[in-house]
Amino acid sequence: MNFSKLPLTKEMLQTLHSLGYTEMTPIQEEALPFILEGRDVIAQAKTGSGKTAAFGIGVLSHLDVKKFRVQSLILCPTRELADQVAKELRRIARFQHNIKILMLTGGESFGKQLGSLEHQAHIIVGTPGRVLKHLNKESLELSNLKTLVFDEADRMLDMGFIEEIENVLGFVPKGRQTLLFSATYDDEILDISKRIQNDAVSVKTTTKEVQNKIVQDFYETNDKVDTLIKIFSSYKPENVIVFTNTKLEAKELAESLVQNKIDALAIHGDLEQYERNDVLVQFANKSCPILVATDVAARGLDIKELSLVVNYDLPHGMETYTHRIGRTGRAGAEGIAITLYSDREAHKIEEYEEDTSRNFLDAATLKKEQGFEMKPQYVTLVIEGGKKDKVRAGDILGALTGEAGLQGASIGKIDIYDRQSYVAIENSLVDEAHKKLKNGKIKNKKFSVWIL
Ligand code: ADP
Ligand code: MG
Repeated sequence: MNFSKLPLTKEMLQTLHSLGYTEMTPIQEEALPFILEGRDVIAQAKTGSGKTAAFGIGVLSHLDVKKFRVQSLILCPTRELADQVAKELRRIARFQHNIKILMLTGGESFGKQLGSLEHQAHIIVGTPGRVLKHLNKESLELSNLKTLVFDEADRMLDMGFIEEIENVLGFVPKGRQTLLFSATYDDEILDISKRIQNDAVSVKTTTKEVQNKIVQDFYETNDKVDTLIKIFSSYKPENVIVFTNTKLEAKELAESLVQNKIDALAIHGDLEQYERNDVLVQFANKSCPILVATDVAARGLDIKELSLVVNYDLPHGMETYTHRIGRTGRAGAEGIAITLYSDREAHKIEEYEEDTSRNFLDAATLKKEQGFEMKPQYVTLVIEGGKKDKVRAGDILGALTGEAGLQGASIGKIDIYDRQSYVAIENSLVDEAHKKLKNGKIKNKKFSVWIL
């Protein structure tokens, strides 16, 4: 179970140790020996199982750092996922200087990416569309590619990236190693594996992984909004994802909740990239306790420690159900998953009743406390300055606690992006903080600041 039994360098082992990775996760244990051998691997494992490190350690071990050419390409379905992968890779790559990891995703300036590519990189983490665009324009060259990784391949297929993927394959050398990671393992995935991989080792660990402790409660109701609010009032969750089956429902439900003084934001496929980012930041930094999401928009997001997941509709299929509820009760903590179904959906519930640990409860027993509301602990301020302006979290903290005179305890999470930063401020102090930051300076510069 220990990383030290793998053929890894001392520096790599030390880094893993310093990250607190003492034991391999099941997927790492199963897949890494083959990955390090250079074999093609098709791996199935659920979210949060450590897939990134599984391929990341492989990719970094195969890397010839002195050779300044792209040796590895990691394709992800969305920009957020690419961002998470790049972050985890950078953590694992700490052991060696000068490893250059570049992100190529949509929604970012193409020109800037051209500039970065001129300086070369060892590893590219990107989304299929944007990577292909660079390949077509010959700003990206993959003739030295050793390892090609498809992360969340099922999701990429769901999003209709098949054509881009096939086209990317036209640019990569035949002798490469191809690693394919997917949460599901259906015919479509096996078919693509056959076409793009060579004698792939198949690795599945889903059954071996420790089951999260998740309490699963079901309520039949024909007034779902009302029942949902009663659930919030009864269960008192700190943070919740509510899943809907459609974008429109997500939008409408978030609006209905807000009308009922329950603070909620929706995330769905119709949002612009920057809007998605605003929503995700606010949810993660506790500026909004409830996220209403479609499966497509929420899948793969690394939002941890959810106290409650609600299925506002019965999902299409048990696999989606398992995926949704797997977001709560992570890392040994007990989670709660609640599923609502109307009498029109009742015929689909039999399948769920087979598992006797699930509780089918009476919605009439739920009560809403008088004057029940859900307000966030924090409100988010946006500062129009980020990494490119050399703004660091410490500078923002300094400006707020120094000149502006706020207590450190009233400042929450700070997220710094290239051109923008987000800071969570205790709800009651946000106007004051806003005024002071707007009129004051950060690193001796004035920045626009607004309340999200
Ligand atoms: P996946 O891609 O399978 O959803 P991630 O790669 O994002 O999962 O990993 C989930 C979390 O587990 C991350 O926070 C990562 O840092 C952590 N992690 C990965 N491998 C290990 C390990 N061997 N020991 C402890 N934590 C790990
Ligand atoms: Mg992942």
